[in-house]
Amino acid sequence: SVRVPQPLPVLGLDVPTPLVTGGQLPYAALDYAASAPVLRSVWEDVAAYAPYYGSVHRGAGHLSQYSTALFEQSRETVARFLGCRESDEVVFTRSTTDSLNLLASALPEGTRVFVFETEHHAALLPWTSAGAETVFLDAPRSHREAVETLERALSAAPEGPKLVCVTGASNVTGEIWPVRRLAAAAHRYGARIVLDAAQLAPHRPVHIGELDVDWVAFSGHKLYAPFGAGVLAGSPDWLRAAQPYLAGGGASRKVARTADGGVGVEWQGGHARHEAGSPNVIGAYAIASACRALSGAGFSRLAEREGELTRRLLDGLRAVPGVKVLSLFGTGASRTGTGDADSGALEAERRVGVVSFTVEGWNSSHLAAALSAEYGIGVRDGLFCAHPLVGVLLGADGGSTGECGAPEGQSLNAVRVSLGAGTPDEHVERFLRAVRELVR
Ligand code: PMP
Repeated sequence: SVRVPQPLPVLGLDVPTPLVTGGQLPYAALDYAASAPVLRSVWEDVAAYAPYYGSVHRGAGHLSQYSTALFEQSRETVARFLGCRESDEVVFTRSTTDSLNLLASALPEGTRVFVFETEHHAALLPWTSAGAETVFLDAPRSHREAVETLERALSAAPEGPKLVCVTGASNVTGEIWPVRRLAAAAHRYGARIVLDAAQLAPHRPVHIGELDVDWVAFSGHKLYAPFGAGVLAGSPDWLRAAQPYLAGGGASRKVARTADGGVGVEWQGGHARHEAGSPNVIGAYAIASACRALSGAGFSRLAEREGELTRRLLDGLRAVPGVKVLSLFGTGASRTGTGDADSGALEAERRVGVVSFTVEGWNSSHLAAALSAEYGIGVRDGLFCAHPLVGVLLGADGGSTGECGAPEGQSLNAVRVSLGAGTPDEHVERFLRAVRELVR
C-alpha cells in the first residue's frame, strides 16, 4: 500500500483528503462552490455529540433537553456569525434553496420581486413559483451598472411591497457583488432585500447589520458542514405574518376541534413557525461548529490566502493558449461604458475562490473528466444552475449566437474550479500543471 502524505492544515483548518486514482493520489477537491469538504473539527464535534442525540423541544428526558440546548445555542452562534440585529430571527432550513423558497412563501400580497438574470436558479425561480410578479434585470457589466439598473427598475415600479434578491458572490464567476450599495438603493426606494450568501459566507464575513440587508440565506454544505441544513436569518415581520412554510407539529401552538367540526390552529410566532416537524439538530450543530471554526481562523487571513491562490489560478489559466476566464465585471467590457477594467491581484480581491473558464477546441465536460480520471482533481463542468448568466458570459464576445447565447461552434458549458479553507498549494499547482499538459 502506498503512503500518501496528507496536506497540512491551513490556518488551523483541516480538511481530510481521501485517496483516488488507484490509491496513488490524494484527491484534490477543487469543487468547493458545489459543496465544500467538511472540516475535521466539524466531524469531531458531531461525533462527540452523537451518543447524546435526542429529539428537541418536547422531551422531558436528559438527552432531549441536552439536544434542545445545543440546537438553541447553535441558533445563537449563527446569529453572532451573521451579526444579526436584536430582533432578527434565525430559521434553520434545509439549504439556501429552501431558505429562499421559504421567504418566497412569506411575501406579502402584491409583492413585486426584482432579481438580476445572473442569479443562481435558487434565487431566480422561487418568486414566480410563489406567484409573485418578478422583474428580471439585465446582467450588469460593472458594480455601478448593477446599482443603476436596480435604481432604474425600482423607480419605475408602482407602489406596493418590493423585494430585491441578490447574490453576494457568483457561483459561476466568483465575482463579489456590491451588496451594501444595492441594499442602500433598495431601501431608498422602500424595497426589502435578501442576500443569497451561499457563495459569500464561506469566504467573507457576512454581517447583516453592516451590509444592511433584510435577510440572509446560506447552506451548511458550502460552509464546511454536511448536507441537509441551511439558514434564513433576518427581519421577523414578513415571516411572522406569513402562513407557516410547513404545517405540522412544532409550528402550531394550540390545535383544537372547532364548533363546526373542523380543526382550529394557533400558530407559533417566531422561528418555530417555519420549523415544523423534528428539526435537523445535527445539521444545525454542524453549521454552528463550522461558524466557530471560520471565525477562529479569521476571515481576513482566509481571504488573504484564498486571494493569493485565486490570483495564481487566474494568472496560470490565462497563460494557457485558448483559455477564456469567464467574468462579468472584470473585463472592462460594458454595455454602457462604465465597466471597471482590472487584472491580476485586484481582480483576485474582487472574487472568492471560484473561477470558470472555457478552452478553445475543448468540450468542457471532456476536460473536467480528464482532470478527474488522470490527475485525481475534482472540478465541475456545465451551466452551474445559472443558465441565463452562462449564456451571457459565453455570448459576450458577440458574433453569431446559438442556443443559450453561446457563440456557434463553442461548447455551451464551462469548467469551474473552486477552492477555500484547507486548500493546499499543491492542489492548485497540480490543477494548473494538468490543464497545461492536457491543452498542450
Ligand atoms: N445560490 C448560490 C449562489 C449557489 O451557488 C447555490 C448552490 N450552488 C445555491 C444558491 C443553492 O444552494 P443549495 O443547493 O445548497 O440550496
